[in-house]
Amino acid sequence: MDSTSMLYQDVESELLVTKEKIAERVRELGRQIARDYEGRDLVVVSILKGSVLFFSDLIREIDMPLTIDFMQASSYGNAAQSSGFVHIKKDLDRDIEGKDVLLVEDIVDSGRTLAYLKTMLKERGANSIRVATLLDKPEGRQVEMEADYVGFIIPNAFVVGYGLDYAEKYRNIPEIGILRPRVYQG
Ligand code: 5GP
Repeated sequence: MDSTSMLYQDVESELLVTKEKIAERVRELGRQIARDYEGRDLVVVSILKGSVLFFSDLIREIDMPLTIDFMQASSYGNAAQSSGFVHIKKDLDRDIEGKDVLLVEDIVDSGRTLAYLKTMLKERGANSIRVATLLDKPEGRQVEMEADYVGFIIPNAFVVGYGLDYAEKYRNIPEIGILRPRVYQG
């Protein structure tokens, strides 16, 4: 990280996950997913917007034919605290009946968003539904929700970068860091 960069000014100086670590782990997950889904009709779904960077890197590491789709759900407003309410802002474009669906998420915290989405998509007759998440905060869990592929387990702090935002900012930071509390404490 360049310490003079304006991009990093609201992030704690000790980064949680660097670019190199992300690239290495995404490569490993891609290989594992390709092995697990060999010969299957895989649809990889990006949960917008937080997962877009992880998603676009991950699908390029999955060396097999697949299709992609997008979905947007939100359980957070602008606050760094979960509201517990899940709202579908954008649904899938294509039918998933009989398909093997891999939901790609940026982070699992309370688990509510993914638990809700999994239940909803199961009712549409998918052959299987699994979850790949870049980050997992097990300490935040409120409902039972285990991701099938996890990039990194992190402590219970509010993080930004590599797609993750606070009030729509910081998504373009190429690595992951803890947001300085002064930003949301005003
Ligand atoms: P859950 O439903 O598991 O509580 O929340 C998942 C969603 O909350 C994520 O997709 C993400 O949008 C948001 N979220 C949870 N923890 C964090 C965090 O540390 N940083 C950011 N930027 N978003 C978070």
